[in-house]
Amino acid sequence: MNFHVMTLFPEMIDPVLNTSIIGRAVKSGLINIDTVNIRDYAFNKHSKVDDYTYGGGAGMLMQAEPVYLCYRSVVDGIRPDAGHAGKDGSTRIRCIYLTPQGRVFDQETAGELSKEEDLILLCGHYEGIDERVLEEIVTDNISIGDYVLTGGEIPAMVLIDAVSRLVPGVLNNDLSPEYESFYDGLLEYPQYSRPEIWHDRPVPAVLLSGHHENIEKWRREQAIIRTMERRPDLWDKYKGKS
Ligand code: SAM
Repeated sequence: MNFHVMTLFPEMIDPVLNTSIIGRAVKSGLINIDTVNIRDYAFNKHSKVDDYTYGGGAGMLMQAEPVYLCYRSVVDGIRPDAGHAGKDGSTRIRCIYLTPQGRVFDQETAGELSKEEDLILLCGHYEGIDERVLEEIVTDNISIGDYVLTGGEIPAMVLIDAVSRLVPGVLNNDLSPEYESFYDGLLEYPQYSRPEIWHDRPVPAVLLSGHHENIEKWRREQAIIRTMERRPDLWDKYKGKS
C-alpha cells in the first residue's frame, strides 16, 4: 500500500514512520510512504506558499496553486492515466484532507482505507488551505478529533499508523487486529504477563487454568464490563447493532 503525503514539513514525518513496526513494514516493502514537499511547487522565487486571507482575519492561508501542482505531480507519479480531479472533484485516487472539519477517524474508517492501493494525504498548516483547491482535489475530509492542531502532519501519521497495521503482513500475527479494541465494537479485555503476582496483585485465576472456553467467556465479559464503564457511547452503539 502506498501513502503519498503532501506537506510543508516532510522532516516531521520521515523519522516517526521509519521506526518500530511501521518502519519494518516500510523496509520490507509492505507499505511505502512518500512525502512530497508542497513548497517545491511554489510558483514564486521566494518559495512562498501562503498569503493573507480575503476578507481579513488573523493568520495566513496556504494558497491553491502550489497545492494543486503538487497534487498533479503526485497523481502523475502514481498512474499517469488516472487523470486529475476535475472541477467537479472527480478522481479515481482518494485524496484525504486532514482537517478538524472532517468526519472523525475511527477503526472502521481505518479498515476501509486499508483496502486502497494508494492514498494521497494532504496536510494543512497555518489557518488551513484555500477552499477552491480543496473543492477540486479532495475526496475525503478526515479529522482525528474535536480539537485544533497546528498542522495536518500528526493527523496524517496517526492515520498512516492505524491503516498500515491493518495491511496484511504488517503485524506479526495477521489475526491480532480481530482481538483488539473496536474490532467488534467493544474495548479489549484486560491482559497480563509474567510474573503471576506483582505488587500483591495476582493474575486472574481463569487465565492460568488452561480452559480455553472459560478464558474466552471471561474475556468477553471483561470486554463488555470495560466498554460499559469506560465508553458508554460505544456500548450503546454495540447494543443497537446486536
Ligand atoms: N482554521 C482551521 C479551522 O478552524 O478549521 C484550522 C486550521 S489548523 C490550525 C491547521 C491545519 O492543521 C489544518 O489545515 C489541518 O490540516 C490540521 N489539523 C488541525 N487540527 C486537526 C484535526 N483535529 N484533525 C485533522 N487535521 C487537523
